[in-house]
Amino acid sequence: MPITDAVKKQLAQKRKLFFKICLRCGKRNPITATRCRKCRSEDLRLKNRALGAKK
Ligand SMILES: [Zn+2]
Repeated sequence: MPITDAVKKQLAQKRKLFFKICLRCGKRNPITATRCRKCRSEDLRLKNRALGAKK
């Protein structure tokens, strides 16, 4: 189902791009997280890409 609403599409892209990845278990965590939800590790890698990087 394609998303036609431009605002919703932008929001969805943000949700996809703005998160942190745990270096221990690779679990995705919310951007606001300070430690992993799964293993409680504080080794989180920020995956923060600029919007519009898609070709
Ligand atoms: Zn983890």
